[in-house]
Amino acid sequence: LAKRENRDAVRSFSQDLRVAAELRLALENEMRKALEQGEFELHFQPVISWPEGTVLAAEALIRWRHPKRGLLAPGEFIPLAEETGLIVEIGEWGLQAACKQMAAWVAQGVAPHAVAVNLSGISFRHVRLLSAVSSALAAAGLPANRLELEMTESVLMRDVELTYEILAELKRMGVRLMVDDFGTGYSSLAYLKRFPIDVLKIDRSFVKDLDRDSSDAAITSAVMAMSQELGLAVVAEGVETEAQAAALARRGCKAMQGFLFARPLPAADFIEWTQRGWPRAMKSA
Ligand code: C2E
Ligand code: MG
Ligand code: MG
Ligand code: MG
Repeated sequence: LAKRENRDAVRSFSQDLRVAAELRLALENEMRKALEQGEFELHFQPVISWPEGTVLAAEALIRWRHPKRGLLAPGEFIPLAEETGLIVEIGEWGLQAACKQMAAWVAQGVAPHAVAVNLSGISFRHVRLLSAVSSALAAAGLPANRLELEMTESVLMRDVELTYEILAELKRMGVRLMVDDFGTGYSSLAYLKRFPIDVLKIDRSFVKDLDRDSSDAAITSAVMAMSQELGLAVVAEGVETEAQAAALARRGCKAMQGFLFARPLPAADFIEWTQRGWPRAMKSA
């Protein structure tokens, strides 16, 4: 009996695997089609200076407007896009769309200083990266200094020699370089100093309990001191409460992003938001 149960378990396990594989294949095909049919879109989240509420930049965050499943967040499709390599094309689409949107805002006189685009590790190391960035800028007619590229700390710390070369090339083009999710990827200080990085984005896990947890507060203070020493700007991610914002500001971090100010918004809503401003910030200043 045990044997038969075992066999059944194995059979249902392999059946599960087959179903999972079929689902993945279906999703992969759907993603390919989605690219062709324009189902991906960018939403934009403001980076502001506290407490003035000045909009410093817009971070472009990809969404998939799935015909049946509704609006999908990147966590629901980026991992598979990375596994299948489709992330390269999706990433190039994102770069182009962000540059085009930013150029349109510049033409309308409503643009923030810069637009930030997230690069996956695969896109970052892809041979086509530099030409993808320069052709996105050229096609949009956007000056390089209005584009920021975000790479996570763990992506940058993999193969640091290659990372250095890629960053140096991007820097030469004139784009701004940001370390995303800083504090989660075990950077070596020596490399942070060597890399031509402009901005560190403090991961939201450190911001979460900043006003209550003394070790998060100590980490934030240390990041601020270090970034000053290295001449880097700092942006805090995931700011959800005024208490967090105030705790960041007390430690010298004035550039912030988070649900306290705005969620990622469709392009038109983003501009409406920037023009309305953030009155609560000004009142509590
Ligand atoms: P990220 O670059 O670290 O982006 C920040 C994420 O935190 C976004 O999630 C944003 O919606 C969310 N967030 C912002 N403020 C708050 C807050 O106050 N509280 C909380 N709890 N969350 C907040 P999202 O849009 O789901 O994106 C997740 C990740 O997907 C991004 O993390 C980024 O790594 C990746 N991603 C987004 N767009 C792209 C893209 O175009 N290409 C690639 N390769 N990756 C992307
Ligand atoms: Mg980011
Ligand atoms: Mg982040
Ligand atoms: Mg992240």
